[in-house]
Amino acid sequence: MKSIRSKLLLSYLVVLLVGVLVTLISVYLTAPAAYSRHMMSAEEMPMMQGQGMGMGAQRGQGQAQYGNFRAAVFESLGYATLAATVAAILVGFVFSRRIISPLLDMMKASRRISDGHYGERVQAEGDDELAQLALDFNHMAEKLEQTEAMRRRLIGDVSHELRTPLTAIKGSMEGLIDGVLPSTNETYEQIHQEAARLGRLVDDLQELSRVEARAYHLDIRPLDVSTLVHTVAKRLQRSFDEKRVTLTLDLPAHPLQILADEDRIIQVLTNLTANAMQYTPATGSVTVKVHAEEGMVHFSVQDTGVGIPAEHLEHIFDRFYRVDKSRSRQAGGGSGIGLTIAKHFVETHGGSIWVESAGEGKGSIFHFTIPAEIKK
Ligand code: ADP
Repeated sequence: MKSIRSKLLLSYLVVLLVGVLVTLISVYLTAPAAYSRHMMSAEEMPMMQGQGMGMGAQRGQGQAQYGNFRAAVFESLGYATLAATVAAILVGFVFSRRIISPLLDMMKASRRISDGHYGERVQAEGDDELAQLALDFNHMAEKLEQTEAMRRRLIGDVSHELRTPLTAIKGSMEGLIDGVLPSTNETYEQIHQEAARLGRLVDDLQELSRVEARAYHLDIRPLDVSTLVHTVAKRLQRSFDEKRVTLTLDLPAHPLQILADEDRIIQVLTNLTANAMQYTPATGSVTVKVHAEEGMVHFSVQDTGVGIPAEHLEHIFDRFYRVDKSRSRQAGGGSGIGLTIAKHFVETHGGSIWVESAGEGKGSIFHFTIPAEIKK
């Protein structure tokens, strides 16, 4: 029996059937005794009153017999109803327990979860709606557990990230106060740099929380891919020139359009291209390539830079993940949030993002896809 509705229907039928059966048996067992008792008391009365009955007396006796018969039927039905009610309550109790006990389990589990015991799960037996509800409940509990773990990790990560620049600022200030550090421009410059790092981190965190909470609006429109890439290249060209890294664009010969939010895609492209420049030493090169494939537009940003060791590849999009924290810091890198945000944006557009690298010193290629505008 699959659905709870048919189970309930069946349980009503069983209760009804048991009630009827008990009534019949009770009537069958109690009716003869009740009948003879009532009839006997009726027969005794005229004998006591004497003999010689007229017509009126006969009619009176008939009425009295009928009254006694009715009383006998009511008495027997009374017992039968009592027995049927007790039987129905017992059967109903057994059936309702089977339905209510999983609900009680879920109630208890939800209270334990709200008290912070996120590992709580319920048993999902059978294949009716209650079993499905139990499965959904467990799924929800699992999600809550993950969210809680993520929240804890985030707080840990954030405090760790904040501690580093704060310790540096505190150390420099103490050095200045004690006269250990000279009060030169260089010292102030260092403190200023750390404060700026803190500011960037706070900005990144704000952006990350906005993105993860999906508290932003996507303005999806057809966008010309070459225009987008040129916009990003123009913005970064000066930095490329200063670092003496060559930026090459490999764009499709025919106009190609994507369905996307302009600002977000520019942000993703800028992040990948700026990273490529950051992790590529002077005289290296970065190539931004775009081509169409199966309803999507494929972007890739390839560099001849430091590369990414294989063991880091799968974590590179995790928040606060940096391959080498000190290297990233020296390279003027951020807090390891840029790629996390890029991944969010690409995936909310219905695309995917991934990275390839042959290893340390062998450069990297970041790829992402965005749905193409299909012209009808
Ligand atoms: P960050 O702001 O620290 O650059 P990202 O999220 O943009 O943060 O990047 C995370 C980490 O990925 C970087 O710290 C760096 O270690 C690595 N990374 C990103 N892009 C490249 C690249 N093109 N070459 C080598 N490593 C890279």
